Amino acid sequence: MNTKSLAALDLCDEKLGANFDNSFVRTLPADPLRHDFPRQVRNVCFSHVQPTSVASPRLLAWTDALGDELGIRRPESATGCAADVFGGNKILPGMQPYAARYGGHQFGNWAGQLGDGRAMTLTEIIGAQNQRYDLQLKGAGRTPYSRTADGRAVLRSSVREFLCSEAMHHLGVPTTRALSLVATGDAVVRDMFYDGNAAAEPGAIVCRVAPSFIRFGNFEILTWSDELDELKKLADYTITTHFPELGAPSSEVYAKWFEEICRRTAIMVAEWMRVGFVHGVMNTDNMSILGLTIDYGPYGWLEGYDLGWTPNTTDAEGRRYCFGRQPEIAQWNLLRLAGALSPLIPDRTDLERGIRSFGNVYAEHTRMAMGDKLGLLNLDDNDEALIEDLMTTLQEQETDMTLFFRLLANVPIVPIDEKTQDDSALIAPLRRAFYVESDDAGKHLSPWLHRYVVRAQRDAENPVTRRERMNRANPKYVARNYLAQLAIDALVAGDSSVINRLVSVLQKPYDDQPEHDELAARRPEWARHKAGCSALSCSS
Ligand code: AMP
Ligand code: MG
Repeated sequence: MNTKSLAALDLCDEKLGANFDNSFVRTLPADPLRHDFPRQVRNVCFSHVQPTSVASPRLLAWTDALGDELGIRRPESATGCAADVFGGNKILPGMQPYAARYGGHQFGNWAGQLGDGRAMTLTEIIGAQNQRYDLQLKGAGRTPYSRTADGRAVLRSSVREFLCSEAMHHLGVPTTRALSLVATGDAVVRDMFYDGNAAAEPGAIVCRVAPSFIRFGNFEILTWSDELDELKKLADYTITTHFPELGAPSSEVYAKWFEEICRRTAIMVAEWMRVGFVHGVMNTDNMSILGLTIDYGPYGWLEGYDLGWTPNTTDAEGRRYCFGRQPEIAQWNLLRLAGALSPLIPDRTDLERGIRSFGNVYAEHTRMAMGDKLGLLNLDDNDEALIEDLMTTLQEQETDMTLFFRLLANVPIVPIDEKTQDDSALIAPLRRAFYVESDDAGKHLSPWLHRYVVRAQRDAENPVTRRERMNRANPKYVARNYLAQLAIDALVAGDSSVINRLVSVLQKPYDDQPEHDELAARRPEWARHKAGCSALSCSS
């Protein structure tokens, strides 16, 4: 692709305006009303909106690498034009802000119209490599889709989105990204535990970035409302703009498109499972049509490996969105999307092919990922049992997922002396991964480790190459829930050094960075049941 300009520009430099575009707004049917009062909106894909001003926008964080991709230079000061734009106090010439209309299945049930209740896309921008991105504010005020809520976001949830989306990007997981974090200077009232004790918290706005924020729910609302002309318009726009490699829209291309969405979704979820990420609210309105991780709310990272773990207190009872069910739920969501696209893809077998490809791509991607995580070459059918047995054994005693896999590269792959049956050399390198404090910690893993070492010897791979390959598949640093909370607490107290350090370490999650070892430690006991460190509500 052509590189358009090497030098990034200030956000408010009027020359940057030449890179703004508004293809979504230009192409798709718009709500004729321009009020932000909550209502049911019909026969359109979006509503024009304006951010609501905030008291004193102040830039708290900025992502240079993403700014470079977009051709936007880091603002020189924490206040001023860029903070005003990303705080919602100023719209630049060429921006046409809108809130998208979408619906969704929430916790398994059709929920009707939802829409961007507090997100607003300011504009699209054509980046330095000619790619198209949406600049979207989250927390910029009410829209017609806000229902009874305030359109705002609190600092803690904004930090969590900023931190985690960037961490996911550097882990290699498909995701939306975050360019800026702005404190608004306004208080936002939230009942964090849903126990009647609402409290004022500092408000903030993230500017998030993706080629598109279109969700499964944008299509679902149109089909459920029997707005089939609009459905076709949105599908054609999406394919033409975001899947041009598939060709001009036609019934055959719609089917290929669905299969491609299934493929991308499979890879996204397989990647979540590879790194131990739990989204927490996999409603169909939170599923990106581009297969990106989207809407960071009550997400969490596995500490102890546990297929049943969910970070979302709202889901604690049903555990619909727990770690182990994510692949199954992604497929359920794709079936809802298949229903929404069925007016365009009437042949069921086309839709079934897409769903089948979800299963195949997921299985293949996971197989490759597990081979790399375990450092095994040329996987065969027998290895499947080895992998499955590990997943069950890991759950028997609380074992940190990230540390276990990272430390596995230290287990010596040498012939085991069966006579002495001394397992300590196998278990010792893993000790830091066990939450259980006893001499027996990890003993239950020894039969599995025996099999593993015997199997790994068969590859006869150079130990240095093997370790490098494993380290590229097993991150040392993830955005552990308690680390995010410590960064938030510091920021609220006016100290941005904690978040800055964390952001920079998480940009190289597979590197050793020994000077930051403490950020790779297992969760301390004080964080086990502390709010924000183990479980979160949706109140953000
Ligand atoms: P979520 O569970 O965060 O994906 O949100 C579900 C729906 O609620 C979406 O339509 C959001 O836009 C909307 N929503 C969530 N929080 C707020 C808020 N504070 N103000 C307005 N709408 C919100
Ligand atoms: Mg959402």
